[in-house]
Amino acid sequence: LKCLMVQRSTAAYGPLSCHCLFLDLMLLGFFSPQYGIVLDAGSSRTTVYVYEWPAEKENDTGVVSQTFKCNVKGPGISSYESNPGALAKPFDDCLNKVKERIPVHLHKNTSVYLGATAGMRLLRLQNETAANEVLASIQNYFRAQPFEFRGAEIITGPEEGVYGWITANYLMGNFLENFHFALKYITGPFVTMGALDLGGASTQISFIPEDSQENFNSTLQVKLYGYNYNVYTHSFQCYGRDEAEKRLLALLLQKSNTSSNVDNPCYPQNYNTVLMIKYFSGSLCTQSLRPANYYPNQLVNFHGTGDPGLCQEMVSLLFNFTACRDREDCPFNGIHQPKAKGNFVAFSGFYYTINALNLSGHFSLAEFNSSMWFFCSQNWAQVSRLVFCLSYCFSANFIYYLLVYGYNFNAETWPQIHFQKEVGNSSIAWSLGYMLSLTNMIPAEGKLIQLPLKP
Ligand code: AMP
Repeated sequence: LKCLMVQRSTAAYGPLSCHCLFLDLMLLGFFSPQYGIVLDAGSSRTTVYVYEWPAEKENDTGVVSQTFKCNVKGPGISSYESNPGALAKPFDDCLNKVKERIPVHLHKNTSVYLGATAGMRLLRLQNETAANEVLASIQNYFRAQPFEFRGAEIITGPEEGVYGWITANYLMGNFLENFHFALKYITGPFVTMGALDLGGASTQISFIPEDSQENFNSTLQVKLYGYNYNVYTHSFQCYGRDEAEKRLLALLLQKSNTSSNVDNPCYPQNYNTVLMIKYFSGSLCTQSLRPANYYPNQLVNFHGTGDPGLCQEMVSLLFNFTACRDREDCPFNGIHQPKAKGNFVAFSGFYYTINALNLSGHFSLAEFNSSMWFFCSQNWAQVSRLVFCLSYCFSANFIYYLLVYGYNFNAETWPQIHFQKEVGNSSIAWSLGYMLSLTNMIPAEGKLIQLPLKP
């Protein structure tokens, strides 16, 4: 304002005063980037994401990018059910780094959102009071932080699925107006990719079905930049990687002749471990598999046999295919699902597993199978150099069963699945879609994007 007054009084509209106006606008924050922080409170860990965008372009598509990511040390927040007071301290490390990344004068205008997923959905089903105490402890922690805390909530499975779908398509530029290769001008709604997300406690599938007008219960209507998208989405609780593996261990114990020595065909040969039964049978996902005499602290020895054929057979038992017998529109467990169509991006646990099998880019279903077979036949000495090494044979079999027998991908459609964890430097995760939606940065109405000139 001072600058404008000087302009008026001197009637000087030359380059000097323009420069002065620009500086003032800078000081007023018009050209500073804006930041948003999302904490993805997953079942196995909490991840902090920092997003950045130019303030004056906030409603354009494709302008928000991830500038920082930090994994909070320790387990996911649902593991603090009996000691919620202790859960926030481990956030400090990541939050201190975040404070260094965001200019201090912008801290108080930077929003922080925390979304908790299937780990907390399970805890809330098991013990609602404990789940509320965990959320309250987070609120307390953020009250003492310099950022604008916008709340901690447990998001639903369908929300998790749709936010992941929005993130993937936003980052890939699929909501942008563009020219078709035949130089035809294309307007929306655009061709989008389906999203496959594998977390620790649940897995999500989201895509636009062939007949997107079908109004199934699990189809959500999303309006983005003036176009309607009918997104089918389903979240399978207890079909996340970690909970599924707990179910496998509980099943192996149930099928074994002894209650303390159990062979595990999905562990590498020569690997032995002793687990307390509550580690896998204490979960809500394994409640129905608990032994009649359940003593939570009882010890069970698991002995790895590295047997890919048997591992696959055991993994198949985690899916209830009979509930869908003779129904084409039903993957497993009696859940309705339209035929999967088009390209898909498979991220998070799907990507980690493919990466561990040394696969990347385009590979066939047969190549996936032979890598899985090779990996599962290795002994402990051969795989122990990998982090998460114990679990990859199980994970590979699990995603194979889920994708092929569950979602019905076959040798022909398999190449339509792109295993990818990020676009540019931004992670494909539900967190970005969540922030874009909560801040209304993807407006339902009006295309605020720049249109290229029509030919
Ligand atoms: P997240 O992406 O943190 O929700 O993790 C999804 C699943 O992948 C969880 O079961 C994690 O235990 C597992 N996971 C996380 N990081 C890795 C990794 N680097 N390799 C293999 N599995 C992982």
